[in-house]
Amino acid sequence: MTETLHIIGGGMAGSEAAWQAANLGVPVTLHEMRPKVGTFAHQTGNLGEMVCSNSFRSDDSEQNAVGLLHWEMRQAGGLIMATADTHRIPAGGALAVDREPFAETVTAKLKAHPLITVEYGEITALPDDGHWIIATGPLTSGGLAAAIQAETGADALAFFDAIAPIIHADSIDMSKAWFQSRYDKGETEAERTAYLNCPMDRNTYEAFIDALLAAEKTEFHDGETAKYFDGCLPIEVMAERGRETLRHGPMKPVGLTNPHQPDIKAHAIVQLRRDNALGTLFNIVGFQTKMKYGAQTEVLRMIPGLEEARFARLGGIHRNTFINSPTLLDGQMRLKSKPHIRFAGQITGVEGYVESAAMGLLAGRLAAAEIKGETLNAPPAETATGALITHISGGAEAKTFQPMNVNFGLFPPVDLKGGRKNRPARYKAYTDRAKALWTVWLAG
Ligand SMILES: Cc1cc2nc3c(=O)[nH]c(=O)nc-3n(C[C@H](O)[C@H](O)[C@H](O)COP(=O)(O)OP(=O)(O)OC[C@H]3O[C@@H](n4cnc5c(N)ncnc54)[C@H](O)[C@@H]3O)c2cc1C
Repeated sequence: MTETLHIIGGGMAGSEAAWQAANLGVPVTLHEMRPKVGTFAHQTGNLGEMVCSNSFRSDDSEQNAVGLLHWEMRQAGGLIMATADTHRIPAGGALAVDREPFAETVTAKLKAHPLITVEYGEITALPDDGHWIIATGPLTSGGLAAAIQAETGADALAFFDAIAPIIHADSIDMSKAWFQSRYDKGETEAERTAYLNCPMDRNTYEAFIDALLAAEKTEFHDGETAKYFDGCLPIEVMAERGRETLRHGPMKPVGLTNPHQPDIKAHAIVQLRRDNALGTLFNIVGFQTKMKYGAQTEVLRMIPGLEEARFARLGGIHRNTFINSPTLLDGQMRLKSKPHIRFAGQITGVEGYVESAAMGLLAGRLAAAEIKGETLNAPPAETATGALITHISGGAEAKTFQPMNVNFGLFPPVDLKGGRKNRPARYKAYTDRAKALWTVWLAG
């Protein structure tokens, strides 16, 4: 008899993982703590509950990376996408759903599946044997989080994200910015030029501080505690502490010389650091923020060199339990120290309903293949699902690892020139290449 796959957490990732594995012939027990034990954000005992917005974002599979992820999941017979399509409500180019019937249908389909058993109750310990997927999401219960932390070490499990904005490298104006590490520190040329620097004169700095103080900020949800650590204060909180605080913190203008204007000393300097091995993404160092998204893009584009910045993701601080996947997981989504346990969903450091469901889809398929004694490699990095798994299992910088949405900056670049004008053709090239490779991967 085929061994059972146990999945902890019946959210976006756990529901999709259960569906995929069961459809491949593997019996699944899905352990969900709600409604017995609740979270501050979930309202029901339904599986696949959307905790906040009812949007799966863009459904454009030709020009948008999240739309491409929709496409890949549909091709793979995904439960979350099929149910979203059934309960779709008008939202322009976005895929929005009627949330209650959506979650009720996910629950009904899983319960009706002959190979799936749903067991209600909180799991608080790591299992010693068997085949398991942990998909307990950003609000993983305290008992299980403690067990994960005991296994991985305190530094490898975070309870809040503190995301600095991430920018596509090709949208930075290099006639103003330059590569240099502070005091040219580093053994190699690559280390000595590891940072991108954007200089500010006094007037720009003062206007920037004014805009930062005036910008609209998001509040924490009820039940979340605003537990900032001094090492990751939002920039607007630093600015509130004093107009010069940022100039003595992440914007200090020392140890750097602007090759575009070597005789002018900058009043402040914003630094960006490489965010992925491909070098296509850069995060703004120390710029975690709770500014609302609209305000954030406006304020950050005041930084010289970032006037035309395209954001792969904007900054934020949220209650979010996630592991340091680049150090902890292998390419099969297994915990290296306990390979009978996989992780999936937002707890792996992806962000969003769609990305979480996609990581559930992949974990379910990988676990099912392993149980059946088959070999299944993760999909190639040129696909949206492959780009995400490649990022979290090693492509991202482990030291600064923070949750990530899917975006084209995670994909190996396509060789199409032509700058901004040629963007539609470039995005189409990304999605065409991904679709061809995803089709091959699914067939294999
Ligand atoms: C307040 C808040 C607002 C958000 N808003 C959005 C948004 O608007 N759009 C968006 O795309 N994403 C949003 N997210 C992120 C969103 O939660 C995730 O993208 C998505 O739900 C993650 O899917 P998941 O399956 O990993 O986790 P979840 O969907 O949260 O599922 C995890 C499941 O595990 C269960 N569980 C936890 N611990 C245990 C345990 N020990 N034993 C058994 N079961 C357990 C939980 O009850 C839950 O059902 C938000 C997150 C939070 C916290």
